Amino acid sequence: MKIIAIGRNYAEHAKELNNPVPTVPVIFMKPDTALLRENKAFYHPDFSEDIHHEIEIVLKVCKEGKNISEKFASNYYDEIGLGIDFTARDIQSRHKEKGLPWELAKAFDGSAPVSNFILKSEFADLYDLSFKLDINGELRQQGNTKDLLFSFERIITFVSQYITLKKGDLIFTGTPQGVGKVNIGDHLEGFLENKRMLDFYVK
Ligand code: MG
Repeated sequence: MKIIAIGRNYAEHAKELNNPVPTVPVIFMKPDTALLRENKAFYHPDFSEDIHHEIEIVLKVCKEGKNISEKFASNYYDEIGLGIDFTARDIQSRHKEKGLPWELAKAFDGSAPVSNFILKSEFADLYDLSFKLDINGELRQQGNTKDLLFSFERIITFVSQYITLKKGDLIFTGTPQGVGKVNIGDHLEGFLENKRMLDFYVK
C-alpha cells in the first residue's frame, strides 16, 4: 500500500506557513514504513528539533482505479479515519528554501499514525465533519471538512491521473490551521465528530 498526502488543503493553514493558497492540489507521499497503527507510541526522531503535528482526515481507497472521473470518485473510498501527518518542519523549511523534495521531512518511520476506520455511510454529511487534536488535554487544532479547498472527489480524480490508486491505499487530505511542535511525553488525542479515534504518546 501507499500513502498519498495533500498539502495546503485548508486556506488558513497555507497562510499560517506563509504559503500561497494553491490552485491545484499539492501532493506528496509516505512509504508503508511511515504507518503507525493501534495507537502505538510515536518515537521522536533525533534528526529534528521541530516535529510538528498535522491532524488530518484520512480516506481508505476501496478499489483500483486510474483516470477516475469526479462523478464516480466517491465509489473509490468507503471508509474514513483520522491521522497525523508528522512533519520535521526544520528539515522541510531547509528543503523548501533550496527547492528540494520533502521526503526526509515527511516520510520518515512512524510519521503517519492512523486510527481505525469508520464506514463513510455512517456519516450524515462528509462535507460537514468536524475533527480536532488535543495535546495534554488542551485543544491545539480544530477543522471542518466544509473548509476543504479540494474535495475528496477532486483529490481522487487529480491523483489518479498520475498514480493508479489501489485497494488499501490511504489518502491524507490536509490539515487545518494550528500546527505546532510536539515534545517527548506529550499525549495526543484526535477526535472525529467527538469520537476519540487517536490516543497515543510521544516517546
Ligand atoms: Mg499535512
